[in-house]
Amino acid sequence: MEFKYWKKLSYKEQDTIITQALKENIDYDDNMSLGIPVSKLDPFVFSEQASFLKEAPLLRTYVQNPNHIGCHTLGESEPFFNGTQKLEKEVIELLSVDILRAEQNTCDGYIATGGTEANIQAAWIYRNYFMETFNARIDEIALLSSADTHYSVTKAANLLNLLSVSVPVNDETRVIETDALDIAIKRAKNTGIRCFIVISNMATTMFGSVDDPDVYASALKNNAVEFKIHVDGAFGGFIFPISCPGNNVNFSNPNVSSVTLDAHKMLQAPYGTGIFVIRKGLMEYVYTKEAKYVSGMDITLSGSRSGANAVAVWMILFTYGPHGWFEKINKLLYRTQWLCKQLDKIGAKYYRHPNLNIVAIRAAHIPGAIAKKYGMVPDTHSDVPEWYKVVVMDHVEINYLEDFISALQTPGHPPR
Ligand SMILES: *Cc1c(COP(=O)(O)O)cnc(C)c1O
Repeated sequence: MEFKYWKKLSYKEQDTIITQALKENIDYDDNMSLGIPVSKLDPFVFSEQASFLKEAPLLRTYVQNPNHIGCHTLGESEPFFNGTQKLEKEVIELLSVDILRAEQNTCDGYIATGGTEANIQAAWIYRNYFMETFNARIDEIALLSSADTHYSVTKAANLLNLLSVSVPVNDETRVIETDALDIAIKRAKNTGIRCFIVISNMATTMFGSVDDPDVYASALKNNAVEFKIHVDGAFGGFIFPISCPGNNVNFSNPNVSSVTLDAHKMLQAPYGTGIFVIRKGLMEYVYTKEAKYVSGMDITLSGSRSGANAVAVWMILFTYGPHGWFEKINKLLYRTQWLCKQLDKIGAKYYRHPNLNIVAIRAAHIPGAIAKKYGMVPDTHSDVPEWYKVVVMDHVEINYLEDFISALQTPGHPPR
């Protein structure tokens, strides 16, 4: 893989860049700013003088409290926070080009509150796009996704008043059933649906399975309906593009229009760092004309949001650089591989995508007490679980996995 923007920067280099960015933001002590309802964090509570702030550019950003309201990759933005907004713009461009394989300067995006918001933002944009471009009524537009898709898609359907169509997946391979997909599309068409908003997964939450967006695209083309495809990479977005280069779940694929990535999952960024990236020319469909008091384009679901979150993502990316990040991902994949080998040895059945760090084990092999002791997550909290998953994160070290495997083999815990 080649990188146009992504590199490693020393802590000192980062500090210099962030300090400069903060300088370009408004300084409440030196400038008159009578109109904006913002200021730095309450100095009575959060002292600016604390000695540890000197060494910590991210904490200094928190104290200055820049507001990143709106979208900074197009149009004008609030001028008061130009400095740190430029860093956010850099993050969006880096992710769209170096991770998601877009051409330079062809994407817009912003740092959302999370994957949920980014998925809703996508559905909102495409709903309006279909209404404006094809004169579609609300009851002619549907959301389409697999049965393993995150429930934020159902939230989006509920909020936007759209029909949600779910397609079954194969119980073993977690791959979309193409015949069932075709039937689902035809059935929706018969009820008057003519535009489809697809949420295609780049790693599902429970299994880590990856949908092929082209499967959706060809089924929809065969049925001669309009569609837009959004990729939900909230979990897989910082792993799959790296562990599976040459994949088709990114902007090199003309069928893909937008992507969600969550920095607060695999990237271990603070919460509030969901990332939404979309091809240029589409963000504008959710322009809120009534947002007259905000300079520039308020075309994001969230209004005011913290600029410190953008700086946090920027710092993580530039602290690791691409090679450091590859090493980290490969370490997690190595551990996942190790776990799968042990499960094979003891004959436990599981699903694992070869490029991801989730292992979903058939519940029949996992006594409830072990699932509880090892903090495994079931596929359902209301019924009898069919699967329990292990997500191999940074803190999931092999000695814990070793312990888990030997617990599974301990007499008194035979497979159910
Ligand atoms: C976690 C997750 C989401 C929701 O993200 P939040 O950041 O919790 O809002 C959406 N989709 C997938 C695939 C996820 O794993």
